[in-house]
Amino acid sequence: MIEIKNLQKKFKDTIVLKDISEHVDKGQVICVIGPSGAGKSTFLRCLNALEKPSSGQVLFEGQELIGLNDKKLDQLREKMGMVFQGFNLFPNMTVLKNITIAPVKVKGIDEATAQKTALSLLDKVGLADKAAQYPDQLSGGQKQRVAIARALAMNPEVMLFDEPTSALDPEMVDEVLKVMRDLAKSGMTMVVVTHEMGFAHEVADQIWFMADGYIQETGTPEEFFSHPTSPRAQDFLKKIL
Ligand code: ATP
Ligand code: MG
Repeated sequence: MIEIKNLQKKFKDTIVLKDISEHVDKGQVICVIGPSGAGKSTFLRCLNALEKPSSGQVLFEGQELIGLNDKKLDQLREKMGMVFQGFNLFPNMTVLKNITIAPVKVKGIDEATAQKTALSLLDKVGLADKAAQYPDQLSGGQKQRVAIARALAMNPEVMLFDEPTSALDPEMVDEVLKVMRDLAKSGMTMVVVTHEMGFAHEVADQIWFMADGYIQETGTPEEFFSHPTSPRAQDFLKKIL
């Protein structure tokens, strides 16, 4: 579904991503883990062309992202939902409106249908009673669940998450992870940058360990957490587990 070939990303003189070649298959859940500054966010942003690679290729369903015109790029991005650490909800819109606005404006879905979908998504993330609230009336965990529902409202083919729980108070982490776990079980293709090792261990099909601009090692959670092979990963796990 996503193919990454010799991806390199520089900011001025700093090479953040050095040479990454991997692929994400349909239905797979990939957890990307690694130390701060490894390039995880940059990598994720290259997958939907929020960052332009300096060299190499990113292909989504066989189509190369680099060089697409804005319209084509927007069409492809619609298929990739993204959820960030900060929730980026529209503060002046109700929860319902936050979720319906893109399907209505971008996809041309009629308001009533969009609302129906939004309500069912809100139900899915446990927030059916919050449709009429504004974001500042919600807790961090609730906001993040709305952000997930909003991304899902576009009916994406893959969901990209960049540390979706790391800005949350600890007691709100689980409610968000539960939504993500359910989503994974439903068969959604997901790439998740996370520091939640329990979640990664339980939910990931593959762990991609990133450090110093490379994916140093990939493997199943069992392989990775029990028998990390690269010294960087061994060192990382020693520090956090
Ligand atoms: P964290 O776990 O702290 O979120 P990360 O693995 O997501 O870290 P990135 O945010 O991808 O790391 O950053 C990797 C490196 O790229 C860092 O050294 C960062 O300073 C640099 N970097 C990221 N974005 C830019 C930018 N727009 N301009 C210049 N340097 C950048
Ligand atoms: Mg990051």
